Amino acid sequence: MTAFFTHPAFFKHEMGPDHPESPQRLWAIHDHLTRKGLMALLDVREPTEAPDEVILRVHTMAHVDRLVATSPKDRPYEALDPDTMMNHFTLRASYLAAGAVTAAVDAVLTGQARNAFCAVRPPGHHAERAAPMGFCFFNNIAIAARHAIDVHGLQRVAIVDFDVHHGNGTEDIFANDERVLMVSTFEQAIYPFTGDIPMGNNMVNIPLPAYSDGSAMRQAVEQHWLPAFETFQPELILISAGFDAHREDDMSHLMWNDQDYAWLSGALVKAAGRHCNGRLVSSLEGGYAVEALARGVGHHVDALLCA
Ligand SMILES: [Zn+2]
Repeated sequence: MTAFFTHPAFFKHEMGPDHPESPQRLWAIHDHLTRKGLMALLDVREPTEAPDEVILRVHTMAHVDRLVATSPKDRPYEALDPDTMMNHFTLRASYLAAGAVTAAVDAVLTGQARNAFCAVRPPGHHAERAAPMGFCFFNNIAIAARHAIDVHGLQRVAIVDFDVHHGNGTEDIFANDERVLMVSTFEQAIYPFTGDIPMGNNMVNIPLPAYSDGSAMRQAVEQHWLPAFETFQPELILISAGFDAHREDDMSHLMWNDQDYAWLSGALVKAAGRHCNGRLVSSLEGGYAVEALARGVGHHVDALLCA
């Protein structure tokens, strides 16, 4: 059984009418999964808000206080940086996104679900220990990893990040934490301009050149990620699932296609089967060409369902 976490608040967080990280992304995903008959196969669940204790394993109290203080009272939006705005629903959606990934970890580690996908907004992988950044407020996947370690007692958690942007926040939080292996691909020399030099020995960062296609990603997975899993022997695989390396996505210059996302998702499901009894939790990050995003998530969820 594949659990699918969603919540109405994820559709209400928005950062202005022209912002690419829009609720339309989730509507497209839900429409596509419904039309393809996939939604009916999923165990659809609504999370509750994560308590501060769960957030504070990853973020500083000052970070949490800043979000609470910035949450708009009178005006429609308050900005944390030029790209990252809060509306009236952002704070609650952020706590619910953290609640979704931790509930997904609970479901998978207690055997209620084989794997899970969290269709959350806001995304998380740019949020650093002490700073929101790049459309991200709380680092959802990092919160999931620490929940698995601190609450369930896991000793080795692998984080995969295939968003086209480097997951600087996740790296900031886990660099040199030997309980966590992070493997990633991202486009070289675009936002957030990090990752070329890994911050720790537990980071397997594979920058991909602009205009490279899915074959470069497949090579990175086969030559770097899968051997790293063999060495690390993860007890759980977590995925920062961004779909913005798609050739239709204007946010980047990588040229992946639908079949690349199907292949990649299949490879990760297979790796989870090999190393950790299929235990895998995936959480939405980027993806801004909404139709390509929806199809990518469709392939991804399909692979999870076939596990
Ligand atoms: Zn991205």
